[in-house]
Amino acid sequence: MKPIEVTVPALQKGIDAITLWPFIIYRRGVRDNLPLRCHEWFHWRHALRWGVLPWYAVYLLLKPFYLGARSHLHPFEAPAYALQQKIIDMQAAGESLDGPLAELGMACPSAG
Ligand SMILES: [Zn+2]
Repeated sequence: MKPIEVTVPALQKGIDAITLWPFIIYRRGVRDNLPLRCHEWFHWRHALRWGVLPWYAVYLLLKPFYLGARSHLHPFEAPAYALQQKIIDMQAAGESLDGPLAELGMACPSAG
């Protein structure tokens, strides 16, 4: 099972992408940003594991405590941003992304 990824001309100011299960919606021009895609795929898989409705309920309940500069600290955002940064660092180091991409289910299944 994989997200349905769509690109739209624009999203709310300051937002590049949003996971609205079963969709991941990207602002035009950012879909090739692999670290960002990994961030959103992490949310998508996290919501699937939790159950989509409980995930969004808890996300929204916690949101008022993590506004503005604190938004990265939201308990559902912190691991997504950590993964995003890990991908950025691995890309910069020229390391293989096979491991994290396979964990997210983003890698193409190999034959055999
Ligand atoms: Zn996020």
